[in-house]
Amino acid sequence: MGEVPESHPRFASLMARKKLTEAAAAGLLADSALIAHGRGEAFDYLLQERTCEAARLAILACAARLSSAEYPVISVNGNTVALAGPQLLACAAVLGCPIEVNIYYRTPERMSALLSALDEQKTEAEEAYPELKSKIEGVEILGENPDARIPNLEGPRANCHHEGIYSSDVILVPLEDGDRCEALVSMGKTVCVIDLNPLSRTAKTASITIVDELTRCAPILLDALRDSSEMTDPNWDNGHNLKEVTKEMLRLLD
Ligand code: ATP
Ligand code: MG
Repeated sequence: MGEVPESHPRFASLMARKKLTEAAAAGLLADSALIAHGRGEAFDYLLQERTCEAARLAILACAARLSSAEYPVISVNGNTVALAGPQLLACAAVLGCPIEVNIYYRTPERMSALLSALDEQKTEAEEAYPELKSKIEGVEILGENPDARIPNLEGPRANCHHEGIYSSDVILVPLEDGDRCEALVSMGKTVCVIDLNPLSRTAKTASITIVDELTRCAPILLDALRDSSEMTDPNWDNGHNLKEVTKEMLRLLD
C-alpha cells in the first residue's frame, strides 16, 4: 500500500482502508467495523468522493452550534479514532471540550486500546497543528470509568460519563448508530452526526447531519471552528439538507 502514489484517483479511499485494516489488526475495531465502512464507501461513490455544497453548509452549521454550546462534547468510536483521531483532537482543542470514547461492542481490551490510541494521537495532532499544542495536550479523554447512563438505550453502549456525554448540550458523534442517536436527541441534546448514508436512521434523526466522508470533512470542520466568520446562522432545516444531498447523489443518473 506504501507504493500507492498520491495521484492515484482513489488515493484517499485507499489510505482510509489502510488506516482501518491497521486499526483492526491492533484490536481497535469490532468485527463489523470494516463492513460499516464499506457501506459508507458505496454512498461516497455516489457523491463522487467529494464534499458537496449541502455537506459544506452542514459542516458550517455544526461548527456554529458547537462553538456556541455551553458544554460541547465529541463522542468517538473505533472507526472514528482510526480515521480521524488527530483532527478531532484538534477540534476538541479549539472548542476546549472533552472527547469521550463510546463503543457499541464494549470490551475492556478495546476500550483501553482506544484510550491509549487517542493519547498517542495527541503527539501526531501536536505535530500537525503546532499552534494548538498546549490546548491539544489539555484535551480530556473520557470513557474509562463511565458513571452515568443514556436513558432508553439498552446495553453497555448506554454507559457514559456524567461530566462528558451525559451533561453535554451539543454533541458531535461521527458515525453514530440510529438507536443511540435517537436516545441522545430524546435527552434534549443537539446531535451533530457525520454519516454518508442520507437514508439512515441516524441521518434522519440527528439535529444536523453532515453527509460526507469523515476524513474529508474533519479538516473542513476544524477550519470552520477556527474561523468563526465562516459560520452560518443556526436556523437549520435538516430534512431539507438531506434532500439536497440525495439529489446530488441521484444527479449522476441524469
Ligand atoms: P442506522 O444505525 O443509522 O440505522 P446503519 O445501522 O445502517 O444505520 P451503521 O452500521 O450503524 O449503519 O453504520 C454504518 C454507516 O456509517 C454507513 O452506512 C455509513 O453511512 C457510515 N459511515 C461509515 N464509514 C464512514 C465514513 N468514513 N464517513 C462517513 N460515514 C461513514
Ligand atoms: Mg446502526
